[in-house]
Amino acid sequence: MIRQRTVCPNLNHRRTDAPVRFCPMCGEVVNKDIHLRRCTEEKHAKSRREMNKYCVACGEQLINGA
Ligand SMILES: [Zn+2]
Ligand SMILES: [Zn+2]
Repeated sequence: MIRQRTVCPNLNHRRTDAPVRFCPMCGEVVNKDIHLRRCTEEKHAKSRREMNKYCVACGEQLINGA
């Protein structure tokens, strides 16, 4: 099976035991065994400061592309 997708450099994609559900760079699910969580705006603000494009817990886009 060949996956033709944009290659995301985030290491979580290569791990089988990624500590987060979503990739912070592309927003794809990297570990579906981790339960989806609801976040507070505070958590998103913190995540944004860490330059995460997507929230690793709920997959919400934090930083707009443009
Ligand atoms: Zn990714
Ligand atoms: Zn979130």
